[in-house]
Amino acid sequence: MKPDTPSGLQAQHPAAPFPAPFPVHLVGAGPGDPELLTLKAVKALRQATLALVDDLVHPGVLKFLRRSARVVHVGKRGGCASTPQAFIERLMVAEALRGERVVRLKGGDPYVFGRGGEEADALRAAGVPVVVVSGLTAGLAGPAALGLPVTDRRHTRGVVLVTGHTGEDGADEPDWPALARCGLTLVVYMGVARLAHIVACLQAGGLPSHTPAAVVCSAHTPQQRQALCTLGALCATVQREGLASPAIVVVGDVVQASPHWAVAGAPFSASAAGACGASAPGAARELLHALGRA
Ligand code: SAH
Repeated sequence: MKPDTPSGLQAQHPAAPFPAPFPVHLVGAGPGDPELLTLKAVKALRQATLALVDDLVHPGVLKFLRRSARVVHVGKRGGCASTPQAFIERLMVAEALRGERVVRLKGGDPYVFGRGGEEADALRAAGVPVVVVSGLTAGLAGPAALGLPVTDRRHTRGVVLVTGHTGEDGADEPDWPALARCGLTLVVYMGVARLAHIVACLQAGGLPSHTPAAVVCSAHTPQQRQALCTLGALCATVQREGLASPAIVVVGDVVQASPHWAVAGAPFSASAAGACGASAPGAARELLHALGRA
């Protein structure tokens, strides 16, 4: 059945049919555990007729879609075969103009290393309205899963979110020596593949080898694993423990605020740490019913 047409919306693009398309929702699915979804995200999922899903989205999140909704996986993991970005953008535009209620589901937050800005631009350029539903980003929720606050005035006054992934030519390489000197917590996304290079650059920039560091992979999923150690021991620890993407690397004195650091004294072995269980989506739905929002 065709969805109802949205009221009060006018097409702003000559190619767009009348009536105007429904807004495409760029929805952050959080880092894993479906209980970390926002209520707005659940509402958008319930209204969607089509979901375009990134591959870091926990499958439990899809349980909030209607049974009749179509699901298209458009994963784009670094180094793996992926759906070209231009194709995803064309698909979103075409389906929205056909009258579908499109949800674009992204891991974490759509505007943090998620190309959400590019997708919003493409949609607006085609006359399709956009709603962004923020999600919990892995760079904040991942460290929190280790009891690690990324800011704590006893250790640091701020935090930098930075990507370790660069283009082929390395032209968009972050200024690691400057980051080494900034005195803020460094939270590195997509950093594991180039960890040796990143650590070497930070050390060359003056960050001491004894600076506390942590890695958490697959945070907020049953596969979560982690390690806390010094910057100098980071590469060997990650290799020995087999820690792999998706992972967040944290560098800075604030890592000492984690109870894992205090319990173990540094360094802390990944294998000693318990996994963080992801809650069943059914439990999340019960909670929403209890809140009267479902
Ligand atoms: N938009 C996402 C980030 C996408 S980039 C967000 O806001 O979280 C993909 C990178 O995010 C991964 O390579 C990894 O560095 C990080 N990441 C995503 N989910 C993660 C998880 N559950 N645990 C650890 N890191 C994660």
